[in-house]
Amino acid sequence: MDSPIVPAIEIRTPARCRWYSNRGKQQMLYRHLRNIATGSGRFGRYCLMAPALVCAAALFARIGRCDEAVPAEPVPQYYKGNIHTHSLWSDGNDFPEMIAEWYRTHGYNFLALSDHNVLSEGTRWMKYSTIIERGDNTTLKKYQARFGNGWVETRGTADTANYAVRLKPLNEFRSLVEERGAFIMIQGEEISDRVKKKPLHMNATNLQEAIPPSGGLTIREAMEANLRAVEDQARRTGREVLVHLNHPNFGYGITAEDLAFVIRERFFEVYNGHPSINHLGDDTHPAVERLWDIANTIRLSELNAAPLFGVATDDSHQYHGKPGSHTGRGWIQVQSRYLSPEHIIRGIKAGDFYASSGVELKEVSFDAKDNILSLQIDTKPGVQYTTQFVGTAKDHGTTVTLENKEESEPSSEYKYSSPAIGKVLATAKGEAPQYRLTGSELYVRAVVTANQNHPDPSFKGQKQQAWTQPVGWRRHIHSE
Ligand SMILES: [Zn+2]
Ligand SMILES: [Zn+2]
Repeated sequence: MDSPIVPAIEIRTPARCRWYSNRGKQQMLYRHLRNIATGSGRFGRYCLMAPALVCAAALFARIGRCDEAVPAEPVPQYYKGNIHTHSLWSDGNDFPEMIAEWYRTHGYNFLALSDHNVLSEGTRWMKYSTIIERGDNTTLKKYQARFGNGWVETRGTADTANYAVRLKPLNEFRSLVEERGAFIMIQGEEISDRVKKKPLHMNATNLQEAIPPSGGLTIREAMEANLRAVEDQARRTGREVLVHLNHPNFGYGITAEDLAFVIRERFFEVYNGHPSINHLGDDTHPAVERLWDIANTIRLSELNAAPLFGVATDDSHQYHGKPGSHTGRGWIQVQSRYLSPEHIIRGIKAGDFYASSGVELKEVSFDAKDNILSLQIDTKPGVQYTTQFVGTAKDHGTTVTLENKEESEPSSEYKYSSPAIGKVLATAKGEAPQYRLTGSELYVRAVVTANQNHPDPSFKGQKQQAWTQPVGWRRHIHSE
C-alpha cells in the first residue's frame, strides 16, 4: 500500500482536525480496514470477535480523534526503524526523499540516513551524469514523478555536461515525509574510519554536527577516540546520541577481542543487509553472531562489563534493482511510548528492542525474579519457527588473556573455540518459546529462525530471523 501522503501536485486542505481529507488518516483507515479483512493487527483481531456495529463505532472513534497520533497517556509499543542508510549524499544511488518515502510506505516508523562522513546539510549540486552512473537514467525521472517539478531543483540544460540536480538537506525535506506519531527522520552519519587498511565504521544516530573519523594507531584506539568524539558532542549539545559499531566482519577489520575490550561501545550490528560484510565468516574468522558471543563472554567473565546489544540494519545503497545492499533486509523494533529520536534512542540504550531480518515478535520479556526469558512470535500462516536460547556458562573453561593486546590477525575462533561459548542451551518450537535460566549462565539470548527463505537474501541460504538482547547478566556486573 504505497498511497502517497505528499502528492506530486499541490493540494490545499483546511486547517486542523481534518481527518476526512487528511491522507495520513486515510492511510490509517485503509490499514485498519485491511487488518479487519485479514484479521491481523490488534484492531483487526478485535474486529474478528466483535459484532459489526461495535466494530464500526470503534473504528470511527479511532479514526475521528484529531490528537490520536500523540495520546496523553501512551502505552509502550514497538516502533520499527532502520538506522543505517546511504543516499546520493555519499555513495547511495537515490535522492533522500525517495529513500524516506520507501521506508515510510513500507511500515517503518523511523529512518536515519547515515552517509559516510557527511550529514545531509548545506548546498550540494550533483551532476546528472553522476546520478546516472550511480543509479540509472530513471533515477531523476522517478524523483520528478513522485514529488513534482515544483519540488525538484535542476540547473543547466538537460543533455549537456552542466545539467545538475540539487540534493536537498534533511532540514528542508523532513517536513515533506514525516508523519506525526507514524514516521520520523533521524539525522545520522556513518563515521568511516580506517586503521592500517582495515575499515572501522561506526554509526552515530541523532548527532548535531558531522564528526570526522578520529583515526588511531590501532582499531581499539580509533574506536575509543570516535566514541569519545560522539560523547563529547552529545554532552555539549545536550542530545541523546547512539553509536553502534557496523559490520565487524567487513574486511575482517574488527575482532571479537576488539568488540570486547572497548567497553565504551555498547551496540553493534549482529545483522547488516550488505552482501559483502561476511556475515557467516570463513575458515579463519568467526561468523558475526559468534563474535557477539565471544565478546560478551569476555566482557562478562573477565572485564566486569555489560554485554553488547545487537542491531540489524539495511546499510542500503542500491535503490534501482541492481545487486548490492537493498532496503528492507534488516531492522530494529524498539519499545517506546513516544516516537521521537530521544525516546527511540533511550529505548535502545535500555535494551528494549530486538533485531530482525524478517521474523516479528509481539513481545520479549525477562522476568528477573523467576529468571524466565519469554517471547511471543508474530506468526505467519504456514511458517514454522524455531527458537534457540544461546548463552555461555560461567565455567566455560576458556582462559582469556587479560592484557589488552592487539592481535595482528584475528584468531578468535581458535582462542575461543570452546563449545561452551555461545552454546545452544535449549531449542523450542512454536509461537511462545520460554527459557528458565538455571543461574549458571553468564547471559542468555534468543534467536528465532523461520523455515521461510529470505525473499531477498544477503547471503546464501538465508532464513528470516529475529535476535533478542542478552538477559540475565546484570548479577555478574559488580560496581567497584
Ligand atoms: Zn560501512
Ligand atoms: Zn554503510
